[in-house]
Amino acid sequence: MPTDKIDTAKDFSKGAAWMWGKVLPTSQAALPVTDWGLTHSDITYDVVHAWDGRFFRLDDYLTRFEGSLEKLNLNIEQSRDDIRTILHQIVSKSQLQHAYVSFVASRGQPTVMGSRDPRDCQNHFYAWCVPFVWVFPEDVVKRGARLQVPDHVKRIAPNSVDPTAKNYHWGDFTQGLIQAKEQSFDNTLLLDENGHVTEGPGFNVFVLKDGRISTPKSGVLEGITRKVALEICQQHGIAVSVKDLSMTELLDADEVFATTTGGGIVPITRVNQRSYSNDAPGETTLALQATYWQWHQNGAMSEAIAY
Ligand code: PLP
Repeated sequence: MPTDKIDTAKDFSKGAAWMWGKVLPTSQAALPVTDWGLTHSDITYDVVHAWDGRFFRLDDYLTRFEGSLEKLNLNIEQSRDDIRTILHQIVSKSQLQHAYVSFVASRGQPTVMGSRDPRDCQNHFYAWCVPFVWVFPEDVVKRGARLQVPDHVKRIAPNSVDPTAKNYHWGDFTQGLIQAKEQSFDNTLLLDENGHVTEGPGFNVFVLKDGRISTPKSGVLEGITRKVALEICQQHGIAVSVKDLSMTELLDADEVFATTTGGGIVPITRVNQRSYSNDAPGETTLALQATYWQWHQNGAMSEAIAY
């Protein structure tokens, strides 16, 4: 059908959103220009995926979102059950079998015009879905991603912006990404001010060295895929350490991988000038990745969306 014939008011095929109590195409969902979510990045969100018509580990995502609301003193009307219902409703409306599903709480607008007091703002919830988003494109997942650790930008300090409350403070990542892309890397990975490895835009990172797997302990979002990967390591009988990780340990690793809702367990084959396992995805990484996708068939870890 020619695109000019599509009635965009009714076209949900590219995603559906829930906002101010209404379901509308995601392309039409918008915040008022005075919303503090927009003017101050005073907002938290979470992202769950639907795969083959099922939400994977939705309760883990809902629990993390509730924690973020509490950390940021955001109060919304919707209960956990309401949020679950809304997420089902929008994915069902879109008919998407594989979807990226974002749910958000914003500080909102002050009820008293011009007020600078966050307590005057009317916090509000909204949600939207779009076709599944690969944080690393599918061909990069197959070949293994190439990351740059930049010198010129460090991760925002966790005592300034708490990375465990999922947020839109992406100024550091964006600067890292611009340089990484200009220098032909796939993505950026940031260190903190003490030189410890943190995370990248949308992913956590793991290293394998002499049969033991490690991932940064602090200064990162506690990714749900990171949590699932730790469970998979346990099932595979692989020892795990959650600890501070130096740049030297990252470069000395036998294998490196990323974890993200947008694509699962992703092999990393290069960091800066260093390449791992002959510039190919590592054997252990691929074994963990296979289990990650197998677990999507496990009914106990997912729930069906009623289309
Ligand atoms: N770190 C950051 C900064 C993120 O934004 C994300 C996800 O978007 C992750 C890590 C990975 O978390 P998850 O596995 O829950 O997608």
